[in-house]
Amino acid sequence: LDISWRSEFPRAEIARRPATLWRYREALPLERPEEGVSLGEVMTPLVPLELPRGRVLLKCDQQLPSGSYKDRGSAVMLSAIREMGIDHILEDSSGNAGASIAAYAARAGVRADIFAPEAASPGKLAQIAAHGANLVRVPGPRSNAAAAALEAASTTYYASHCWNPFFLHGVKTLAFEIVEQLDWQMPREVIVPAGNGALLLGLWLGFDELRLAGVIPRWPRLVAVQAAACAPVYHAWRGESAPEAGATIAEGIAIANPVRLREIRSVVNLTGGRVVTVSEEEIVFALRYLAGNGFFVEPTSAAAPAACLAQGAEAGSVVVLTGHGLKAAAQVAQSIGSNRIEQ
Ligand SMILES: *Cc1c(COP(=O)(O)O)cnc(C)c1O
Repeated sequence: LDISWRSEFPRAEIARRPATLWRYREALPLERPEEGVSLGEVMTPLVPLELPRGRVLLKCDQQLPSGSYKDRGSAVMLSAIREMGIDHILEDSSGNAGASIAAYAARAGVRADIFAPEAASPGKLAQIAAHGANLVRVPGPRSNAAAAALEAASTTYYASHCWNPFFLHGVKTLAFEIVEQLDWQMPREVIVPAGNGALLLGLWLGFDELRLAGVIPRWPRLVAVQAAACAPVYHAWRGESAPEAGATIAEGIAIANPVRLREIRSVVNLTGGRVVTVSEEEIVFALRYLAGNGFFVEPTSAAAPAACLAQGAEAGSVVVLTGHGLKAAAQVAQSIGSNRIEQ
């Protein structure tokens, strides 16, 4: 299910508005964007980082209110939900989307049931519960939580970050910010971690709307990064069948059955992009490299920088940092620590 929306970008007016995602109000599929559900979504910084093989720009979405990029989608989706007069929603998530939706539901005064795998990071589960959402811990793999949510969705509004199109229309503001921060020019390449593909598809939607409005001439190449241990998008993109998914430290992208797999594949190809994988060692190396340069992110967020470190990146590429290190501080400490000992 998608929403067709013709976006406009009145640049002079946009420049005069507060530096939040609401400055792109003509592009948001809402009746009253000025009354949107907001926790203060700062326009996240685009910060250069020197890598051994070239300089990239880090888009620091870990700085959003709940600590992950998901806040873009949640802010717009909960605004739409409130406009529709819905007062009870459900979502399933490995953590960050649940934490984000719980925060925005609390802000909107909407009741939320969040189905999460029992093994999700304690910090994320604590966040969900602290915001007053009804946390349903589902034993077994991530797909069990998805199945339980789908069943409950027969009677409750499914505010899914994977299925719900309003979520993608929030995530697309990431593309608007990147282009505005580059003086309304497009980057050549954008590199993102991909699990269910909400980040990738939201970005594509944003770049496509900018293209249709004549702001940029074409799409940048979109590069999706997966953990080699769980890489269904990678294998589908290569036209091969995927081996059974294994465990990865990148829990936020450990998705064995991405619901929009076909769309992800076609968007990557349309933009001339690619899907790549990184090993657990490469993720830990990147985590350490980032932390050693002052960037404290969760392991999932290190996957995209890991691809740049291991395989090189064209100078000027934008790499999205998706989740804050405090979300999974214990895992970060553990993996960086054990890596040091091995050396
Ligand atoms: C959700 C998430 C991602 C990307 O997942 P998609 O489902 O592909 O959008 C990446 N990093 C973190 C930290 C996340 O929470």
